[in-house]
Amino acid sequence: MRLIFDIRAFEVIDLSIMPIFDPTRCDGCGLCVTVCRCGALVMEDSIVSIIEVDNCGWCTDCELVCETGALQCPYEIIPIES
Ligand code: SF4
Ligand code: SF4
Repeated sequence: MRLIFDIRAFEVIDLSIMPIFDPTRCDGCGLCVTVCRCGALVMEDSIVSIIEVDNCGWCTDCELVCETGALQCPYEIIPIES
């Protein structure tokens, strides 16, 4: 688990972190593409690709709707006590 965002300072720590996709577990249902609001996920010929974007919201919605575990969000947004 990696810290991506210090919510206290509203400081982004690492913009390069994106969800991780395991194509061997994907059944091509397309649910992740429908919930993604940043356009990072695209479906071509029933195969998902992750495009690096500047504004992934790190919402984890893609991980939540993926019933096969093909998408993992390896980060956490942590409020840090002052
Ligand atoms: S974490 Fe949210 S914004 Fe980022 S790729 Fe997944 S659904 Fe899209
Ligand atoms: S929700 Fe999961 S199984 Fe469905 S297309 Fe996306 S990655 Fe594949």
